[in-house]
Amino acid sequence: MVLELFENIFQLVAILAALLISIFRYIVSRNRTWIYSVVFFLSSLLSCYFWTAYLIIMGSTPNVSDMLAYFGWNTSYLVLLLLLIHIKSPQERRYFHILMLVPIPLNLWQLSLYITFGGVLNNIYQVTVCTLIACFCIQSILWHIRHRDISPPPHVHAAAFLYVTTEFGMWTCSCFDGPIGNLYYPCSFLNSLTCLLLVWAIMLSEKNEAYGPNMDKRVQNILKSVYVNVTLVCALGGLMLGAWIRDVLSSGISGQADTSVYDIIPLILFLISLIIVAATVTVIFIVIFEQKVMENNSLREARKVAERSNAAKSEFLAHMSHEIRTPMNAVLGMNEMVLNEGIRARDDLPEDREELHRIFSEIVNCSGNIESAGNSLLAIINDILDLSKIEAAKREIREGQYRLSSVINDVGNMVCFRARAKDLDFLADVDENLPDLLYGDEVRIRQVVTNLLNNAVKYTQEGSVTLSVKADGTEGYEKGQIIRLAFFIRDTGIGIKEEDMGRLFQSFERMDMKENSAIEGTGLGLAITRRLVGMMNGTIEVKSRYREGSEFILHIPQKVMSSETVGDCLRKTEDNSEKAYDGGDSFFAPAARVLIVDDTRMNLIVAAGLLKDTGMIIDTAGGGDEALELAAKSDYDLILLDQRMPVMDGIETLHILREREDREGKHTPVICLTADAIDGARDRYLKEGFTDYLTKPIEAKNLKKMVLKYLPEDKIQKG
Ligand code: ADP
Repeated sequence: MVLELFENIFQLVAILAALLISIFRYIVSRNRTWIYSVVFFLSSLLSCYFWTAYLIIMGSTPNVSDMLAYFGWNTSYLVLLLLLIHIKSPQERRYFHILMLVPIPLNLWQLSLYITFGGVLNNIYQVTVCTLIACFCIQSILWHIRHRDISPPPHVHAAAFLYVTTEFGMWTCSCFDGPIGNLYYPCSFLNSLTCLLLVWAIMLSEKNEAYGPNMDKRVQNILKSVYVNVTLVCALGGLMLGAWIRDVLSSGISGQADTSVYDIIPLILFLISLIIVAATVTVIFIVIFEQKVMENNSLREARKVAERSNAAKSEFLAHMSHEIRTPMNAVLGMNEMVLNEGIRARDDLPEDREELHRIFSEIVNCSGNIESAGNSLLAIINDILDLSKIEAAKREIREGQYRLSSVINDVGNMVCFRARAKDLDFLADVDENLPDLLYGDEVRIRQVVTNLLNNAVKYTQEGSVTLSVKADGTEGYEKGQIIRLAFFIRDTGIGIKEEDMGRLFQSFERMDMKENSAIEGTGLGLAITRRLVGMMNGTIEVKSRYREGSEFILHIPQKVMSSETVGDCLRKTEDNSEKAYDGGDSFFAPAARVLIVDDTRMNLIVAAGLLKDTGMIIDTAGGGDEALELAAKSDYDLILLDQRMPVMDGIETLHILREREDREGKHTPVICLTADAIDGARDRYLKEGFTDYLTKPIEAKNLKKMVLKYLPEDKIQKG
């Protein structure tokens, strides 16, 4: 009896110590494994506490079939099984070796013993769960032997294996004496010690770098208070129980009490242990919940900060690229003048001026290089501007009615020209039954298809580039119907490696730089394309074989506006474009008078220089005041007015001019010159009263086209 009592108290102390260490380790490391460990020891403690107290008070052990006595232990076996699964790696969980089944026959023997010696359902459950634990432990040990290099030593599984082995030892010894006498007590003491071993094993296998040092101070304090609370609750529970037992026993001894009162002792003991366990578990979960809430809050805060700095970055990039576009206007414009003048001077030189001819050719050459480098720089700036506008959510989709045939024709012509320059074939395959009049964002569709076609040409050295345009369904489109417009852009170029596919649409990512080092690019095109396609509710896919070619597939939903079909669109629009370019930039208007207003002197020189060969009378003004003064003195046929100027900006100047003209009954066409290429700018300027809008940097062709459009016809001499 004394040994039995000592065994039980020893076990109780060992489990309590293991529990307290587990809780403390959890406080320090925040490793989840300790939660399993805490629940495991708490459940064991429940039964152990009940058993020991029962033994002390009743002088006998509870009945084996008493479910109350086994409730805690049964739960603890299950939790131990979960703990072992939790710390296994996924590969380890799938690993199978026939030796891991060794415990099964041994445990069948254990079961047969129980049945012979009067087994109950409870025993079957215990044996089954512990057998599973043993199998899992052997699995881990075998896995470690096979994969020493990647698998850490299975300390926890080894300790758990010892734990279940000693459990089995106790069960077996409780059925019969072995050849060297009954080993029940040695097994039981060993079993208690393995509880501490298990805690030590978890400490050894712990990987908590991510949590420990970074843990929030507040949470640490809360956890520490939980630790103190658990200890207090345990101690208080024990104290109350002790006092109660003392009273009951002393009244029993004095003979004044009814002895039947002893019958409720097991139940009360069980309830007290259950309350202690429940209180501890609840506190732990409250703490975990609190921790989660705090983590979420700090995550939310961090996200807000990240979003704010991202918006600031986009804003900065947008601003920077906008600012760079303005001086680029001057550089490219001046260069165009140098180029034009250089060519003219070179061609006009008499045959015998060889040295001068050489010098002018050199100038033309350098100027050509400046033009191409300047255009590349401008393209990069535009891409950055575009992307940062998209990221700052300033890019909108502006839908309207458009002709698909015109889009296909324009992008086709553009790529055809580039492909020919590289000796590539360009093939177009357009479903002629496609509806022509659609509703969507024409500008963006042009942009994404052009981007993909440009890439196809850029990354193809020989072979062909193909553009196919199709849609869901083949015939009979009706007005109002939504179709999934599909563009297939195929090339026979370098292709993309399988491993690069994941990075393809990320900003500033360029693939295969060994092969593509000579090809210019920023890695922004596809990032912009994907975002724009997403904004139009479309999708983009890529299929590629390295060194064989790539195919980009775009799907964009568009609304049909009429049943008219695309027909032979490429031929149809070719005629139109010829008409549109007919003599567009070559005219002479010596009687026309034009005023150009810009606060940057260089821009004035550029614009005037570009229009020089039209023979027009060109006046320039450096600000709004001066422009109004000049406009009051002379009658202009056209005014080109910069929008962004200090003191009096373009809009203010225009408003004063219009007020004055309204009184005088005049209306001079005023074109807005601006570097502002953002969406909605055009509408905004037209609403302010501008007649039209021209973006900087100004190209000679566009400028002349615009001037030609608004000059009075009687002042123009074509050709
Ligand atoms: P950029 O062409 O300016 O480098 P993109 O964003 O358009 O940037 O493309 C990103 C990368 O994807 C390119 O650098 C290239 O390596 C790869 N890529 C894009 N299109 C193709 C294509 N048609 N064939 C092969 N590689 C391509």
